[in-house]
Amino acid sequence: MNIHEYQAKALLKGYGAPVAEGVAILKAEEAEAAAKSLPGPLYVVKSQIHAGGRGKGKFKELGPDAKGGVRLAFSIEEAKAHAKEMLGNTLVTAQTGEAGKQVNRLYIEDGADIARELYCSLLVDRSVGRVAFVVSTEGGMDIEAVAHDTPEKIHTIAIDPEAGVTAADIAAISKALELDGAAAEDAKSLFPLLYKAFSEKDMALLEINPLIVMKNGHLRVLDAKMSFDGNALFRHDDVKALRDETEEDAKEIEASKWDLAYVALDGNIGCMVNGAGLAMATMDIIKLYGKEPANFCDVGGGAGKEKVAAAFKIITADPKVEGILVNIFGGIMRCDVIAEGVVAAVQEVGLKVPLVVRLEGTNVELGKKILNESGLAITAADDLDDAAKKIVAAIEA
Ligand code: GDP
Ligand code: MG
Repeated sequence: MNIHEYQAKALLKGYGAPVAEGVAILKAEEAEAAAKSLPGPLYVVKSQIHAGGRGKGKFKELGPDAKGGVRLAFSIEEAKAHAKEMLGNTLVTAQTGEAGKQVNRLYIEDGADIARELYCSLLVDRSVGRVAFVVSTEGGMDIEAVAHDTPEKIHTIAIDPEAGVTAADIAAISKALELDGAAAEDAKSLFPLLYKAFSEKDMALLEINPLIVMKNGHLRVLDAKMSFDGNALFRHDDVKALRDETEEDAKEIEASKWDLAYVALDGNIGCMVNGAGLAMATMDIIKLYGKEPANFCDVGGGAGKEKVAAAFKIITADPKVEGILVNIFGGIMRCDVIAEGVVAAVQEVGLKVPLVVRLEGTNVELGKKILNESGLAITAADDLDDAAKKIVAAIEA
């Protein structure tokens, strides 16, 4: 789950991180009061969308010459004018896709005088099983290009979970970022608190790009992208409350309500499966026969009929889906429950595309009977291979 920059900064501020003062607004009329509450004379007006690259982004409605999604303002009047121009328009960045994202909220911040822009992120480095800092002196807007063209400028410092961030770790990160003076002093508290926030809140990614050295020599968190491990959200009600559903895929929200694992992909075969391994195998075999999955929805182990029906509806709601493959190996999950769920969903929303069902395992005979007696146009398959061939043939027909 992702949150907005202004929320991420408030969270980090709670841990003692150096962030600028700022005010989030939803209406252009609020811009003046927001700016007046800040010290000035420099303000930054920042689009709050769940996507990066805002600075270099372009507003669809304003044409190629208009300023981007992060703007400096040198007076309250200018901040007001930017807010009026930006709010409600659609920002297209390298991360939003062509459709862009509507800017419904702005963050008006006290502007900083920047000496250097650095890159600092924390992530779970699976290769070493540790949380790691990934840092570079080349911060700002193009870290992907830095990683591609000059990978030696990116440094990874993994943290021992028993020891936490040690003095030696701080020294290594500071050296990689070429910090000295006041910035090196700030680093001693900043890096441990980032690690603490990351660990305590079960983050999956914390990206600060840029972390800046200001002209006065101190560090400041200028941008913050934060995402959380969805599997740990149950123990963080404070984080859950930050969810902005308007920023998320409607089908993924619906899936998360039912505790379903749903992943949207680029192909045209919708897949309902139980278990991650079976999902991978199902997608592999679809590809083997020359097609691509449009999505997969994992109903897991102990789903009831309603949950299965919800999963089926989510899959059919995707306009890219030209055919559906239900591939279930009933262990804890019973095949008759799957069959009942599929029949209930089809009766409610109809079936406009071919449906191939492969059931195996607990109560398989009963499951097949329910499908056969439903009168629905369902193609039964004997095994995984047969199922993949049949769904591919059906959408090619
Ligand atoms: P992003 O483009 O979505 O990553 O948004 P950022 O928050 O990283 O802002 C983009 C760029 O705007 C930064 O790299 C800075 O160059 C510039 N910027 C943002 N805030 C300030 C500020 O307070 N002062 C100055 N001078 N520039 C800023
Ligand atoms: Mg940034």
